[in-house]
Amino acid sequence: MYRQRDIAALPTFIALDSSTVLAGQRQGASVQIDETYFSGQLRALDAFDRDTDESSNSSRGQRSRDLRESRRAYRSIEVDVDALTENDLWTASTQFRRELQRIPEISHLERQYPGQCFVVPEWLYTGDRLHYGARVYFFQDDGSATPKEVIQENIDAILSDSFPKFERYQGGLHGYPDCCIDFYHERSSNAPSPEWRSIEPFADRINDVALGNDRSASVDDVLPRFSGWDDRYAFFAREFFPEPGCETALTQGEAIFDSLSSEYPTPLIEDYFRLNFGYDYLVARAVHTGGTHRPVPGELGEEHLMFYLPLRELLTLPRYL
Ligand SMILES: [Zn+2]
Repeated sequence: MYRQRDIAALPTFIALDSSTVLAGQRQGASVQIDETYFSGQLRALDAFDRDTDESSNSSRGQRSRDLRESRRAYRSIEVDVDALTENDLWTASTQFRRELQRIPEISHLERQYPGQCFVVPEWLYTGDRLHYGARVYFFQDDGSATPKEVIQENIDAILSDSFPKFERYQGGLHGYPDCCIDFYHERSSNAPSPEWRSIEPFADRINDVALGNDRSASVDDVLPRFSGWDDRYAFFAREFFPEPGCETALTQGEAIFDSLSSEYPTPLIEDYFRLNFGYDYLVARAVHTGGTHRPVPGELGEEHLMFYLPLRELLTLPRYL
């Protein structure tokens, strides 16, 4: 029971992802902290503002203010790396991490999640430019990973120009099957991307016409034929691309589905798997067509935006009662 009580304050997609970590079915989970993270939650709070009692209205108001303040703080962080050396990357990482830890939203995640939760900078080097972002990880309280380790692996990858090695390490941290991690790294210019190959067998279940961002559609319209197919279990995590037909992913996903459904309403868990798949579909389609589009909250129907609400609020909506 302690799980639901504590985790229910987190945005739904994080609450469900990290719940499977606490249940021991995945080593870890993570979320990228960026503009989409903040704007998705703020839009969800506005969109599903219902006439509820005073105390929930005031906690909702406080939540909106905290998110706006956090977004402002995040935007104002300045990151400088003098040179691509281990020393300079560590100095910048330490400074950046300190600034991130001051953001109210990071404290909120750390406070509400009952296991180990920490934020780290994330570096990516593309050709001639160093990009940076921030990621929050969720583990059990067993010290299975530390911020220092994750940062070191990332810095090593930048310095040795071996980002796929870091991605493999991350795949392990997230508890993805080794075979699917291998599959994700089979890339060649002669074959479609692994992202596309992963979702292709299911692509005909997507109703492209219903995709949009106006909240008029439901995930029921976007993915009308998804539930009822046992192979959907492979999509047990956000941003995980299973190898088609992988039995290991299916077995792990089925266990996750059963465990989550024993704790939360089944329609919620059905939507969780559907949205995981839909998210992968949008990413894969962008990769396939050479674009860089990132899924916009609500693009897969209004439930996609709802999943940015705190879980305890989502559980009061008629769809999930
Ligand atoms: Zn696999």
